[in-house]
Amino acid sequence: MSDKTQRLEIVTPEKKVFSDNIRYLIAPGAEGELGILPEHAALITPLKIGLLKFDHDENRIIMTVSGGFMEVRDSKITILATAVERLDEIDVARAEAAKMRAEQRLAEKAPDLDVLRAELALRRALNRLNAVQ
Ligand code: ATP
Repeated sequence: MSDKTQRLEIVTPEKKVFSDNIRYLIAPGAEGELGILPEHAALITPLKIGLLKFDHDENRIIMTVSGGFMEVRDSKITILATAVERLDEIDVARAEAAKMRAEQRLAEKAPDLDVLRAELALRRALNRLNAVQ
């Protein structure tokens, strides 16, 4: 692979998650998985619930992402995410509890249930659990 790098900045409402040069990023774009190399054409896309994967120095880094936006321009990638976790930050018991809550809500089908909200909570929990398995 070429030695060229690109800047990656990942922020959430809570914190700056990552800021450094990387070679290659894979992100869950709204229309499907996107692979971004340096000098990629400019784009802005929403992100789905899924995984961010990138090569930093000699390490392959994987993080869970719960949606947001990604901008690519001039070999700089900016990810504004609703939530991001490194795999070692994922609290499995918390994700199991969130999964059970969401599954129970969807099974009970209460008349005032916000189905989309429950489905998204379930997908976030499953994404975190799948990532650490
Ligand atoms: P919960 O119902 O457990 O709060 P959630 O999917 O609604 O789960 P989010 O709103 O996506 O949670 O995230 C709120 C904050 O909590 C974010 O900072 C996110 O990174 C963190 N977070 C959520 N779930 C976990 C988890 N299982 N392990 C570690 N951090 C988590």
